[in-house]
Amino acid sequence: MTPEEILAGDRAHVWHPYATLPPGSPPYVVDSAQGVRLRLADGRELVDGMSSWWAAIHGYRHPVLDAAVVDQLGRMSHVMFGGLTHEPAVRLARTLVELTPAGLEHVFLADSGSVSVEVAVKMCLQYQRAVGRPERRRLGTWRGGYHGDTFHPMSVCDPEGGMHHLWGDVLPRQVFAPVPPGGFDDEPDPAYLAALTDTVRRHADELAAVIVEPVVQGAGGMRFHHPGYLRALREVTREHGILLIFDEIATGFGRTGRMFAAEHAGVTPDVLCVGKALTGGYLTLAATLCAPEVAEGISAGGVLAHGPTFMGNPLACAVANASLDLLRAGDWAAEVARVGAGLRAGLEPLRAAPGVADVRVLGAIGVVQLDHEVDLPRATAAAVAQGVWLRPFRDLVYAMPPYVTDDADVARIAAGIAAAVEAG
Ligand code: PLP
Repeated sequence: MTPEEILAGDRAHVWHPYATLPPGSPPYVVDSAQGVRLRLADGRELVDGMSSWWAAIHGYRHPVLDAAVVDQLGRMSHVMFGGLTHEPAVRLARTLVELTPAGLEHVFLADSGSVSVEVAVKMCLQYQRAVGRPERRRLGTWRGGYHGDTFHPMSVCDPEGGMHHLWGDVLPRQVFAPVPPGGFDDEPDPAYLAALTDTVRRHADELAAVIVEPVVQGAGGMRFHHPGYLRALREVTREHGILLIFDEIATGFGRTGRMFAAEHAGVTPDVLCVGKALTGGYLTLAATLCAPEVAEGISAGGVLAHGPTFMGNPLACAVANASLDLLRAGDWAAEVARVGAGLRAGLEPLRAAPGVADVRVLGAIGVVQLDHEVDLPRATAAAVAQGVWLRPFRDLVYAMPPYVTDDADVARIAAGIAAAVEAG
């Protein structure tokens, strides 16, 4: 198909994320991707500032990851997981247990981040029923979060400013505390801490679990917060028999400078969701891990009632194994710190630019917050003109590049952000 035919077909038939049909502005036609570059059908090459939404941490067409998929294809691409098991899934479960904070022992392989959150919620509701507290059905969280697009995840996104405010009258009513104040380096606010723990205590009899994104709130606003808030949540939830879920779908596998963001706080949740970078961005796979107490509680009451058709897909597990081996074999922490330092150097000067409200960097994540809503098509086009792929949203222009992005390309991404800020 010619690029024009692709665009015409796209306009006629294809839904895009958070889009009308046809979309408000046409997408860019991408032909291939290699290293940290996307190649458009018109021949332009763009340095990818987005890692395909946090996922492609090793870049594209990595020979080790390509080989893992090809090798697995030669054995089997998929088999059902009911009644069958296989080495790629078992190896992956073992690696996840090793890598994640100590105390998480059991792994449910889901097929997307949203599903892994659904499974986490289901685990917590089933656990509370199994231990004789069926009235504990609600979830607690703080505002400003994003946990996915299916119904339980939507119910714990911010009901007012968030991406799912349309659904306020349909979603289960959850318990919300305000957004944690300050940034990553700002000491926890004692008044907020008291209000947060008080909210949890007041609703203890109806809360099955508290769910949060640790340290970085992603699609809900790209905010960073002090790990002390997580320690407070760990204590108060444990005190009241409420389970704690950390959603590390965006933050997991090194993005914040620690393998998992929970490590900044030194706490282990009862349930942990991972996805996105799990397969290095190659295939759709996510996982929900839980502590033995949760698994034992559920199993005493019966089966965990979930079983997707593509659960434990061997191709996805094989490439996840290769991606995690690659991550562990390299000095990922140094790479993340280097990318972060480059983003900081490139973005700090933007603090003085007109319309900029804040600049923040953590791990390999760089964010410029504006004092107004970004004009998405204009901002994107300005970055593309600089040879950079970005996807700004609301008042945010930001990047989380692949860890393998070299210094010159990190500087280019920062220049792309500057151009998007100026245009947007
Ligand atoms: N949770 C978090 C923190 C996310 O950032 C996302 C996706 O952006 C999700 C859940 C949902 O994951 P998926 O898009 O794979 O369903």
